[in-house]
Order: sequence, then structure tokens, then C-alpha cells
Amino acid sequence: MLYWHKNPSILMWALPGYLWKMPTKEKVMYLTFDDGPIPEITDWVLAELKKYEAKATFFVVGNNVKKNPEIFKRVLDAGHKVGNHTFNHVSGWKVNTETYLKEVKSCQEAMDVAGFREVNADKKLLFRPPYMRSTSTQKAMMKNDYTFVMWDVIAGDFDPNLDPELCYTKTRDAISEGSIVVLHDSLKAAARMQYVLPKLLAHFHELGWVFKALE
Ligand SMILES: [Zn+2]
Repeated sequence: MLYWHKNPSILMWALPGYLWKMPTKEKVMYLTFDDGPIPEITDWVLAELKKYEAKATFFVVGNNVKKNPEIFKRVLDAGHKVGNHTFNHVSGWKVNTETYLKEVKSCQEAMDVAGFREVNADKKLLFRPPYMRSTSTQKAMMKNDYTFVMWDVIAGDFDPNLDPELCYTKTRDAISEGSIVVLHDSLKAAARMQYVLPKLLAHFHELGWVFKALE
């Protein structure tokens, strides 16, 4: 499994038009949680965030929103932001553009049914491509409606072979002002994510950092 805890900047330059990191010199980080909402895990994340008045952004899978609308509602009610992560968590490299756009639309509909409303109609919605994979055609067709949110720090919490303490220290050391950090509110990542998140929150809170949702 290939990933980097800290995205090399060459990769960021090679793929313009994506949001990798927020431009700030303040002690602010943007935690993001992919693949929920699901029972147990997502509510656990909400409770941890609440301890520090931390806000985050959840990139939700439409089918999970459809199955767990009340959990999705709790994410919104707690003041977090939400973004689209397709309906069935599909890779843009494995389906054609028509199917991909349908996946995005279905996810957005599930979110809307469950109570999502973008207050400012001029504002772009948030999207994160599953597996970081979408084609330039797919992106071009979505660019008027969506900001593609990537990341500069990935915890690797989805990797069952990664030691939880190493997952924490590598993530902690990769974070800088304005970092967009990827974690997962999924069963697969739970063993590591539930170890890493409380430590990250406590460590950076102590140092005076603030945790914000993406604007
Ligand atoms: Zn995902």
C-alpha cells in the first residue's frame, strides 16, 4: 500500500486545481474524516471533537448517509462541515464519467434528503475523490460546482499493518499550519484512528492550536 504521511510538494504542484492545504501561518489545522457516517464510530468522533470545541469536515459516502441519516444530522447539528465522497465510494479510474457524475449526484441527493443545505447558493460544494482517483474529464465536469479537497497529511489509519503509536507520531510530526489531515470514521480504520485522534487533539490543543472546519 503506497501513501505518504506528508504529501511531497512535487505532487501538489503536479496537480493544480486541488485544495491541498489552507494558506495560513496561524496554528490552525483542518481535520477531515472520510467514509462515514456509521454507527458507533462517527458519534465517537463527534464526542472527542466536542471535548476541545474542535470543528472538522466529514466526507461522507452517500449510501452511509442514506442508512444513517440521524448520525449525519448530528454531524451537521454539531457545526461541522460535510463534503461529498460519492454514493458507493467508487474510484474514478474504474467507472466512466457518466457513472461517476451519477455517483456524485446520488451522494448529494442523499445528503440533501438527510438535511444538508448549503446556505450560500454561490458557494461551491466540497468533494473528495475516493482513493484520490478521478480523471481530468470528471474533474473538469465538476469544477463549477465542487472544490476538490485533497490533503497534505494522511494518517494512514486505514493501514492494518501500521502500529497505532507510529500512526500517531508520524501524523503529529507531519502537521504544519493550515494542514488538511485525513482520518477515517470507518470500522477498518477504527483501531488506529481511535488511538490517534485523542492524542492529536490533546497535543495540539496544549500548544494553542485551533481545529477548524473547511470554509
Ligand atoms: Zn474514502
